[in-house]
Amino acid sequence: MSQFNFDVITLFPKAFELINNLGVITRALEKNRINLRLHDLREYGEGSYRQVDDKPYGGGSGMVLKPEPIYKAHESIKKFPKSKTLLMTPQGKVLKQKDFLRWSALDQLIIICGQYEGFDERVRYLADEEVSLGDYVLSGGEIPAISIINGLTRLLPGTLGDPRSLIDESHNSSLLEYPHYTRPMIFQEMKVPDILVSGNHEEIRLWRKKKMLERTIDRRNDLISNEVYKKLSKNKNLHEDDDEDEMLRIRLGNECEIYPDW
Ligand code: SAH
Repeated sequence: MSQFNFDVITLFPKAFELINNLGVITRALEKNRINLRLHDLREYGEGSYRQVDDKPYGGGSGMVLKPEPIYKAHESIKKFPKSKTLLMTPQGKVLKQKDFLRWSALDQLIIICGQYEGFDERVRYLADEEVSLGDYVLSGGEIPAISIINGLTRLLPGTLGDPRSLIDESHNSSLLEYPHYTRPMIFQEMKVPDILVSGNHEEIRLWRKKKMLERTIDRRNDLISNEVYKKLSKNKNLHEDDDEDEMLRIRLGNECEIYPDW
């Protein structure tokens, strides 16, 4: 099985020790499913102080990562045939599940982590994509990088115990996942829905689909575009369309359409 390569340029390689304690990801490392190489930016720093940052031109607070050490670190990395460089920045495109799916077809991600006030603007030229973890500002790119390594690794074949658990998952289809229950049957007077213990697999499947849709409309209406078409049968006289099917068609934010069959 081929390996996925992560090369991370960071001033804080120790932050990545967390990966050794993250269950599935740790197992993927042990099974050599992923190869994580940390490139300590300090080693590429300049002069006897190994300087990596400097004051911003034009004044202002904070320090800015210099371009030379980052370029040198990037050049030192062996590039694989299907490789992309990601720059961690709150000014990038906000990370989505579909990005993990897209990147999982590559064989290498080089991830550049900023620190302090950020990096010299010329660092942006190294990046194929600029990625933000969300609309907030963290102190460094390490947590976003760990999130990317985590989210992508669990999609790699042979990583998760049960690949089926990826199928219905929230954000794969733009719908949030249905509610889960496990034993006990009654917990603090809260009961598991009868349908889940009915043994009727078809009914359970439909119930889950319905819950996915309800949840998404309830909590993340933004994931569903405004175009919800209701096509009811002509005898109900609610729609002029003479289409015979009685179906609800929903257009998702990702431009896919689904036809719930309940
Ligand atoms: N002054 C910068 C932010 C610097 S935060 C600005 O306003 O754009 C320091 C570093 O942390 C950034 O260079 C980036 O690498 C990382 N970082 C902070 N928030 C982030 C986010 N939401 N997503 C990705 N990286 C982030």
